[in-house]
Amino acid sequence: MTAPDFASQLRAASLRVTRPRLAVLSAVHEHPHLDTDAVIGHVRTDLGAVSHQAVYDVLRALTDAGLVRRIQPAGATARYESRVGDNHHHVVCRSCGAIADVDCAVGHTPCLTASDDHGFVVDEAEVVYWGTCPECAAARTPQ
Ligand SMILES: [Zn+2]
Ligand SMILES: [Zn+2]
Repeated sequence: MTAPDFASQLRAASLRVTRPRLAVLSAVHEHPHLDTDAVIGHVRTDLGAVSHQAVYDVLRALTDAGLVRRIQPAGATARYESRVGDNHHHVVCRSCGAIADVDCAVGHTPCLTASDDHGFVVDEAEVVYWGTCPECAAARTPQ
């Protein structure tokens, strides 16, 4: 798998190419569903000292530009991922907070077709499946 050209993505979104922006894009690409603290950790590993505020600002700019998707399951901290534009869903472990991607159940974004849209123009459906991840399920099974 070749790494995406993050600099071109930034330019296409009319964002200046900066090292913190490149580092954040690469972190969320390599580690989907990172929370902010984990993003900061990866960026600091790459670049050395970077302030929390700088990373928050980068995440906001990238999210606003649509290069990064922000997801926030109820009761959880916000997570970020670079898989954008396909309206995929997530499965979340109630126990440890692990998150995995889930494609739409059938075909292309069928969840956007609400059974009754009440006259709204719907452009997004957010589905979160909650459950127990394999590791937590295994840990709970009595030996
Ligand atoms: Zn778990
Ligand atoms: Zn995802």
